[in-house]
Amino acid sequence: MLQKAHFWKREANLIGGEWVGADSGKTIDVVNPATGETIGTVPNAGKAETERAIAAAEKAFESFRKTTAAERAKLLRDLHDAIMDNQDPLAELLTMEQGKPLAESRGEVGMSAAYVLWFAEEARRVYGDMVPSPWADRRIMVTKQPVGVIAAITPWNFPSSMLSRKIGPAIAAGCTAVVKPATATPYSGLAWGALCQEVGIPDGVVNIVTGSAREIGGAIMESPVVKKVTFTGSTDVGKVLLKQAADTVKKVSMELGGNAPFLVFDDADIDRAVAGGIAAKYRNSGQTCVCTNRFYVQAGIYDRFAEKFAAAAKELKVGSGLEEGTQQGPLIDEGAVEKVEELIADAVDKGGNIVAGGKRHELGGSFFEPTVIAGATPDMRFSKEEIFGPVSPLFKFETEEEGIRLANDTDFGLACYFYTQDLGRTFRVSEALEYGLVGVNEGVITTEVAPFGGMKESGLGREGSKYGIDDYLEIKYVCIGGLGM
Ligand code: ADP
Repeated sequence: MLQKAHFWKREANLIGGEWVGADSGKTIDVVNPATGETIGTVPNAGKAETERAIAAAEKAFESFRKTTAAERAKLLRDLHDAIMDNQDPLAELLTMEQGKPLAESRGEVGMSAAYVLWFAEEARRVYGDMVPSPWADRRIMVTKQPVGVIAAITPWNFPSSMLSRKIGPAIAAGCTAVVKPATATPYSGLAWGALCQEVGIPDGVVNIVTGSAREIGGAIMESPVVKKVTFTGSTDVGKVLLKQAADTVKKVSMELGGNAPFLVFDDADIDRAVAGGIAAKYRNSGQTCVCTNRFYVQAGIYDRFAEKFAAAAKELKVGSGLEEGTQQGPLIDEGAVEKVEELIADAVDKGGNIVAGGKRHELGGSFFEPTVIAGATPDMRFSKEEIFGPVSPLFKFETEEEGIRLANDTDFGLACYFYTQDLGRTFRVSEALEYGLVGVNEGVITTEVAPFGGMKESGLGREGSKYGIDDYLEIKYVCIGGLGM
């Protein structure tokens, strides 16, 4: 069932099994960030289309909720196979709209499939309980049921895999969904609709709308039919959605911003730390919520680390994601480049020392040089703000306590990393860091089998792992009395 990339590139919305345009006929251009060229359009849908998508999901839920776990598991296994059969064309589509190197896109599509398979397996393990009863003539049964219609809103940095963590558990649990992919990267989101159709997931189970975030988001948040909203994106938008969720008391899952620290202790394996640091920073051009934002290097190893790290950053091959060997693609748009330039200018003003990169790449467009800034200090903006670009600030610290304090000195708490060869320190530091994900001597740790999610203002809930289906389920207590015992 291998199809070409253009087969998966859908320029319409999926509502109740029909591919449709916006009521107004209006469209939004989709641009390839590597070339600046328009690669197609998608519907500019709004409130009315979203309300129809919600109605379609509500209708589909009536029958989908009655399917067995085994039936849903089979659909998800087929969906996994369809994704893997089409890993290359789906990766090509992803790179065309998002810019990341093809190898990373293949990895992301593979990760999407892995989440879907995981939730195919988890679908069959949604156990309830029989609770010992305090009454002789009653029995207490606890079951889990799908929450109903869910809405998923996703960002542009992982346009495929962020949806797999939401569509996978929704289908596994027996929910139906309304999906709004990011405007900059809608095709990888719409491809989920085509994939679901390919494997026979019933019409209306997955509906996908593109267009005005405010209108689509508004219709979702107002609707009493939508029982849960799952969002991955910025903390600012997450806070808006949390407030909007209050009126209908929706369940919420929030994967929001990060400000990941990366600590290198004096006793670290320095080459391993450099390699892990490069992966944790420059993957997806630094545009992930788990990318390192702040490097803290202990004084005894600081100069050596800075030298090796800057040398490794300079080696990274920048180019179009479609070219063989590219390690860093363009940033998503001009706005992202300007933000990075502002943060670098601020750091230089305050005494930062650029030891690699520092400016737009000679390729032009939104390409930017992999950048390293030594002598970073807490008054520089990136110590508090998410960079979301290929810039590594290197801060110096003296003691373990100081390193932990600096690492925790943020409102965010998604991912963190540290490098040490000391076993005691491994436990002390990982227990002290206020983060949902901790990488010890590893810079890339995401996997479908482990819980992904943040503390503090980085979010609510966990995705993936055995916990990732919980948010899609209601717990019901049934008391059965009058048993005459
Ligand atoms: P990012 O810049 O990382 O994509 P955003 O939070 O801006 O983060 O966007 C994440 C997703 O949220 C996108 O799909 C975007 O269109 C959507 N979004 C933005 N503003 C709103 C809003 N007010 N209501 C609902 N969704 C929104």
